[in-house]
Amino acid sequence: MICKYCGSEMKRIVTPFRRPVKGEVLEVKDIEVYFCPSCGALLIPHETAKFLGRKTGEKLLQVAKERGRINDIKAHLREMTEKKLKELEEDIRKGKIKKKKDAPLKVFT
Ligand SMILES: [Zn+2]
Repeated sequence: MICKYCGSEMKRIVTPFRRPVKGEVLEVKDIEVYFCPSCGALLIPHETAKFLGRKTGEKLLQVAKERGRINDIKAHLREMTEKKLKELEEDIRKGKIKKKKDAPLKVFT
């Protein structure tokens, strides 16, 4: 591989690659790049760029899934809290809990 900036022979390097994706770090082991020892240019071969693009896409999906799951948990907790509140209201209505003396703990969402 010849450096397109200075015409020197570039060195093939296999290096780990890191890139932030949606606030998380995408880490790819052993990508292939070319480095020019005389001018410092860095060339990312087309195949490597494609590979990184695919990995980035996978990471985006993974992050989306993880966030989706967290949302599910939050929704679940909110549901549970609402259910608990309804039960408490029901108990108050039925007179099982007297509002002033036995006021239930506040439930925060
Ligand atoms: Zn160069």
